[in-house]
This record gives sequence, C-alpha cells and structure tokens, in this order.
Amino acid sequence: STRPYIVGNWKMHGTRAMLSEARAIDRAAERLLKVEVALAPPFTLIHATRKEAELIGVGAQDVHPADGGAHTGDISAAMAKDAGAGFTIVGHSERRTNHGETDALVKRKAQAVLDAGMTAIVCVGETQSERDAGQAEDVVRAQLHGSLPTGEGVAEKLTIAYEPVWAIGSGKTPTPDDVGAMHGFIREQLVAIHGETGSSVRILYGGSVNPENAAELLSSEEVGGALVGGASLTAESFLGIIVAAA
Ligand code: 13P
Repeated sequence: STRPYIVGNWKMHGTRAMLSEARAIDRAAERLLKVEVALAPPFTLIHATRKEAELIGVGAQDVHPADGGAHTGDISAAMAKDAGAGFTIVGHSERRTNHGETDALVKRKAQAVLDAGMTAIVCVGETQSERDAGQAEDVVRAQLHGSLPTGEGVAEKLTIAYEPVWAIGSGKTPTPDDVGAMHGFIREQLVAIHGETGSSVRILYGGSVNPENAAELLSSEEVGGALVGGASLTAESFLGIIVAAA
C-alpha cells in the first residue's frame, strides 16, 4: 500500500479508561481512508482495542521470541496474535536500552512475529552521541543487517521505523532533509538485504511527531508514515497527525 501508515505506540500507558480514545480514533479514521492507521496499546488492552476497532489496525509493542515455555511474565507472538494483534513492534530503542535487547534478539523476535502470521515493525536509530560522532549511518546499517529476518516473502511483511533515540520524547526532531537522507540510506540497505522486494518496504519516521510538525517530517519521498508515541495518547492529537498525513 502506498497510503501513509500512521502507527500510535502507547508504550506503558493506558487502562480501560483509554478505550474511548481508541474508539474515537477508529470512528474518525473512517473519514480518512487515504491514511492507514494503527494503534499498539499495552498487551492488557489489545483484545479490548481490537473489539473497539472496526477500521484501524491493532498491534503489540513486543513479544518473546519463543513459541512458549517457562518464561514468567512474557508473551509469545501467537498469544499476541490470539489477543487480536495484526502486527508487532520489535527492537524499539526503549527495549534495546531498558532490556538490553541485541540485534540478534530483535531478529529472532521479528521472525517469531512473522511465523505467527503478523507483520513486524522493526525499529532502528542512533543516539545523540553516535550522531555527533558521525556514526549515525554506520549504526543504522548494523542494526538493519543484524535485526532483519531474510528469506522469500519476508520483505512484504516488514515495516521499518527510523527513530533517532535523541528525538524520542524530547521535542527535538531532525530536519526534513536529515530524515530524507537517512530514509534514502535505509532504502539502499533494504535493497542490499532483500533485493528488489526491499524497494517496497515502508519506512516510518518516529520521534516527537506532533500535529504541528507532522506534515513537514512526512514530506520526504522515502517517508512512508510515522510511529507516534506521546501524541498518540489522545484522539485529538493523534487525529491531528493523521489529518496532516492525509
Ligand atoms: P514520541 O512520539 O513520544 O517521541 O515517541 C516516539 C516513539 O518512540 C514511538 O515509538
């Protein structure tokens, strides 16, 4: 699909009281069919959000790579799917940092997501110090080559989210030119990894996207949408971004 893809990542926010926001987003998204909209609530709300959502996609924020077993507190890809998830975010920088997730682990998680019949949004992005050291492309290249599953039919099930760590929750954003340059670089890597099928993988931008800056951040050719944190928590601000993307 060439429609812009706008995904809300609720992170560790949301109790059942927030289902009214999901419902409001879903009802309004009906009028915005030019945009593909999805929400990734916490695991505890996936099933209820799926029931609210007639139009928008619903997904998970993480899964364990194993099919099942003695992993107290973890959730498998099949469980997330069973609860109503159609996609799962893997390799978010908060998982990489807070839980020490390596590229190798992210790749196993992404594979588990695909094996369960979902699509995977794989996150990459450099820190401020890596960018300052001129290493942003090297870091993102290594993350892509280390985190992406390969094989027949895999590229069609993947979305990439470029989220510079320094832009997440900070109110700081790269310039549209910087976003365009990195997305172009990511495209080259996707084609190197997946051949011709890599040219149609969607690449989302994430990091401090809001209704005011969304149109500009989404303006570059290779930006296929946005992964939105804080501004996805209310229907009002998330719909502002969706309108800007339409
Ligand atoms: P913010 O939009 O809150 O900066 O978060 C971005 C993000 O990490 C989405 O996954």
